[in-house]
Amino acid sequence: MLVTLKEILEIAEERKIAVGSFNTPNLESLLAIIGGAEELNVPVIIQFAQCHEPWIPLSVIGPIMVEQAKKAKVPVCVHLDHGETLSYLQQALELGFTGIMYDGSVLPYQENLENTKAAVAMAARTGASVEAELGSMGRRESGAGDKTVQADETKIYTDPDLAEEFVEETGIDALACSFGTTHGIYLTKPKLDFDVVRNVRKRTNGIPVVMHGGSGVSREDFREAIRAGVRKVNYFTYMDKSGGSASAEYIQTVKPGEPLFFSSVIQAAEKAMKENVKEAMMIFAMMEM
Ligand SMILES: [Zn+2]
Repeated sequence: MLVTLKEILEIAEERKIAVGSFNTPNLESLLAIIGGAEELNVPVIIQFAQCHEPWIPLSVIGPIMVEQAKKAKVPVCVHLDHGETLSYLQQALELGFTGIMYDGSVLPYQENLENTKAAVAMAARTGASVEAELGSMGRRESGAGDKTVQADETKIYTDPDLAEEFVEETGIDALACSFGTTHGIYLTKPKLDFDVVRNVRKRTNGIPVVMHGGSGVSREDFREAIRAGVRKVNYFTYMDKSGGSASAEYIQTVKPGEPLFFSSVIQAAEKAMKENVKEAMMIFAMMEM
């Protein structure tokens, strides 16, 4: 069933868990994620990042995401991830997305604040909820295919004082915080500062904190972050990588001279991605493994 970001985060708050938020820039990941969530009976967020537009247009995958969410047996929020322009956010809202993230983290504070306020006003017209970001994760949501990743010296941790003012002035429903995580494939083991999460929660009357870039984060650190107040965890790169590895393995099983079918390759990928996301979902839902 289709629910808003605010509603799904309320479930997370009640259960003291985080909801996994997975990118679906193809049909296989979409089916793997909803199928996995139904098998485990956990709420789930499916999301589409603006930077994945060259892979598949939002206008193509967006309506399918909304339809699949409506048909699902578990609560599903359809969310726009890292929206960089207000017109793109509007496009997602018109398709029936129930959550949008405005990412103005690379802009000066005042501009981020003003644009986030505009995003909140836009979302209010359709009843959708809004996530925004303060601080910087060092590099943008790039995910797979980005070979330009470098050690990120531009990481700026979220300032709890500023978060208090930002949340109050914008009226957002969730705040993406930077506390040591990185997008994409991890290069050095992340060192997380859970006090950032705890202090942001304290100053903001318990705003649901969103964790981006779980790459390289241990199971124990995920659980510590959730205990500190993380209620949404974005997860993509390692799911996508598991699909890629399964495809490569499948291809190697085809004997020379035998036909290789694309449909068989993507089935292997979907199966692997489902197993990968189920494991992540169990961690985020604080389930025994
Ligand atoms: Zn992100």
